[in-house]
This record gives sequence, structure tokens and C-alpha cells, in this order.
Amino acid sequence: MIPLTVTNEKHDRQVEEPALDGAKRFFVWTVGCQMNEAESSKASAILRQAGYLPTQMEESADVIIVNSCVVRQAAEDKVAGKVGSLLRLKQQKPDLKIALTGCMVTGQQTKLAERFPHVDLFYGPSEFERLVEIAPEIETVDVDLAELPHYYQDEQVDPEVTAFVPIIYGCNFVCSYCIVPYRRGREVSRRMRDIVAEVTDIARRGVTEVTLLGQTVNAYGHDLPGQPDLADLLAAVDAIDGIKRVRFLTSHPKYMSNRIIDAVANLPSLCEHINLPIQAGDDEVLRRMRRTYTVDYYRERIAYIRETIPGVTLATDIIVGFPGETAEQFDHTLELLSEIEFDKVHVAMYSPRPGTLSNRWEDEVPWAEKKRRHRAVEELQREVCTRRNARHVGAEFDVLVDGFSKGRWRGRTRGNQLVFFDSPDDWKGQYVTVRITETSPWYLLGNLMTGESVKA
Ligand code: SAM
Ligand code: SF4
Repeated sequence: MIPLTVTNEKHDRQVEEPALDGAKRFFVWTVGCQMNEAESSKASAILRQAGYLPTQMEESADVIIVNSCVVRQAAEDKVAGKVGSLLRLKQQKPDLKIALTGCMVTGQQTKLAERFPHVDLFYGPSEFERLVEIAPEIETVDVDLAELPHYYQDEQVDPEVTAFVPIIYGCNFVCSYCIVPYRRGREVSRRMRDIVAEVTDIARRGVTEVTLLGQTVNAYGHDLPGQPDLADLLAAVDAIDGIKRVRFLTSHPKYMSNRIIDAVANLPSLCEHINLPIQAGDDEVLRRMRRTYTVDYYRERIAYIRETIPGVTLATDIIVGFPGETAEQFDHTLELLSEIEFDKVHVAMYSPRPGTLSNRWEDEVPWAEKKRRHRAVEELQREVCTRRNARHVGAEFDVLVDGFSKGRWRGRTRGNQLVFFDSPDDWKGQYVTVRITETSPWYLLGNLMTGESVKA
């Protein structure tokens, strides 16, 4: 998953609703991956169901939820800074209730309570029922919180353009650098009928794009009766009326089966985009990372994806400066990136995480060298993307418009490429055709050709 975004607005749909007599307000601050986004949305949905209204200003909130990430030290520091900064507000407003959730919390409640005594509630990812401890009105909500959709249904407000739907929680791998399995536990798949019901609800509200989420999304189903797999679920979601685009994040190479790849190729709503983290391009480093595959195995999966899904775009994750990674081993990663030519690479400097296996090894790659490797990946990727994107000049793409930013409309192609175009009209949530006139390594720029309202 793509780590490290900070948001406080997506979960309440950026709406400051008029004050109603006695209505309490909540504010959600989120750092981390799309799973955190979805879980923040769900916390918002529960609070709204209980009569709370969203606010963009933490000063006017009665309840503040901080949703944390600890995948890397930088994220953890950001969360600690945020929680620390709320102390003043709590002193000014003693009735304010503050909750800390997300990966920082699991198994750490006692320590955290000592460190942040002004926080009223620490609850682990998905422990939504505990929100009642700071928002007693939830008691009056007459629905099963576990299966409440991740989005609040409100006829008055335009729906989001795209929705994240968790389908499998936790992770059964034990990559030697990764804290996620310790904080999110073992894999638990949601029942297929619950997911289909949730996506049907989402579609009924006019949302046409969903992204199915899991730390190992393509491990979906092995723990369910009858062992359906992700391909079965994709077919079921594809068949839902109104769903035009389906994506899924994040796949593990080990579970990237032909069946799943074939499903992406054959199901009309499945977007031609695969995010398949490799982490390193050297077998010895992969072995020490406990990734359970080799570079050749990964190459073969990419070859099958490319021959099966015409026009597919590819993304991956890379960690640089893993303990013991030599300059030569790192060069193998650069060589693999040149060979495969991904459309997007999420690169991170190795960050030692307490409790993980690699944390017991010396963090031998100096920070300056990690930084050099990080830059080397970014520079290589800039060249690759410049070249790949330049081929699109003159091409036309179907774009789902998700917002207006820096004076232009912004949307995504089926391949997840960012596209900007100018228009005085309102296109949010609509599918348009854009002919590309200019490209950069990071986005495509073009002219609006046609637009068709998805609500028509
Ligand atoms: N499950 C996915 C997989 O198999 O790769 C990735 C999920 S992980 C939470 C998201 C990304 O964070 C990883 O792909 C990895 O690149 C990065 N990451 C995880 N632990 C890290 C660490 N200790 N240091 C730096 N990056 C890390
Ligand atoms: Fe972490 Fe590895 Fe699980 Fe991904 S597969 S969440 S990197 S342990």
C-alpha cells in the first residue's frame, strides 16, 4: 500500500454542516495507507450514524480521532507530534474526548497511556465498538457496527468519487523488516456476501469506482469456507450494477496467481493496473527480507501480467538500505527497475522497527548512503516515467475526474495515471475523454474531448 499520506478531510467529505442544536462534532486526522483511510471513514460513519457532525477545525470538535501508522519512524514521529499537540486543546476544553487508533496502538496501550495521559481512548484497528467509550450516543445506533459500511450514507451530500473497501485484514507473512503483522494480526477475510452488499450500497449512492484493500489483498479467501479467491470476488464485484472501475491493493507476488491476472484481463470493470511490491532486486536481500520469492519468479509474474493484460500499468514498492545491502546488491535493484520499467515506484529508506527480526541486526547502511540510493531510484524512475509518459502524447484516455487542484481538473485513467485538463465546467465524479498534449514524469496534461455524466 502507498504509505504516508496525511488527511483530515476525506472521511467527512469536506462538508462543514450548519450547527444543529446540541449536535456534537468530530474531527479525524489520518496518517498512513489506504486501509487507515478506510478505517477512518468507518469511524466517521459510526459517529455520523450516532448524530455527530464532521468538522474541519479541531478546535470546534467534541471528539478527535487520530489514526496512526508506524510502518516507518517518520510516520510514528508525525503521529506523536500530532497527539502531543492536542494537549493544549484538551487543557482548554476538558470535555474534549481524544482517541488514538491505528497500528501505533496494538499491544502498546499501557505505554501510550503513560506517554499521552490526555488521550481518553486507545483502540486497535477495527475495534470500532470501543468508540462508545468516548461517544456514548453510539449505544443508540441499532446496527451491527462490524458490518456497517465504510461510508456514511447521506442523501444530502455528493458521494465520494472513489471508495476504499477492506476485504482482508492482517498479514500472515513475516517480512523481516515489517511491523504490520505484529500490529494487525493474522489474515482474516471478510465474507464475500458482506463485501458485495457493501459495494452494492456504495454503487447505489452513485460511486462508480472501488478499491478493494488488504495488506496482502490477493491472499483473499483462503480462510473462508469453500476457499473463494480474489478472482471469485472480483467477478462478483464486477457484476454489481453501477460499478465501472475496480482496483485492488496491495498484492503479494507469492499470491499473484494466473487466475487473478486472467480475471483482471477479462472482467470489464477491472482496471489495467497492478501494484506488486518487489522491495529489492537482489535474491540475497530478498532472502534476508523473508520475502519468499526470487527475482526470477517476480520477472516471470510480470511477464505473464504483461502478456495477459494489454496496456497494463505497473507499480511497485522498494526499500533501499536494508541491513547488509551492499552497493552491488543495490545496483541489482536499479538494473531490475531499468529492465521492467514500472509506471510508478514507491521508494522508502529502510527504517528499523522495534520487534521485527531485522531490528536485531545492525542497521549498517549509513543514512547518507540510504539517501544516495533513494535519490538514485528516484532519478532512474524520473527518466523511465519521462520516456513512458511521452509515448502518450496524442492518445485519448477515459478519465474519472476526482477533483480540482491547482487551477485544473484532475482525474485518473484506468491505468491510474494522473491527468489534468482545463475547463470552466464542473466535472467532479464524471468520466471524460482527454487527449494528451503534454507529459511530465508524474502526470499527463490534455484537452477535454467529451464528457458524459455518470449520473445521467
Ligand atoms: N504488503 C505489502 C507487501 O507485501 O509489500 C506492503 C505493505 S507495507 C505496510 C507498505 C510498504 O511499506 C512496503 O511495501 C514497504 O516498502 C514499506 N515498509 C514496510 N516496512 C518498512 C520498513 N521497516 N522500512 C521502510 N519501509 C518499510
Ligand atoms: Fe509487511 Fe510483508 Fe506483510 Fe507486506 S507482506 S504487510 S511487507 S509483512
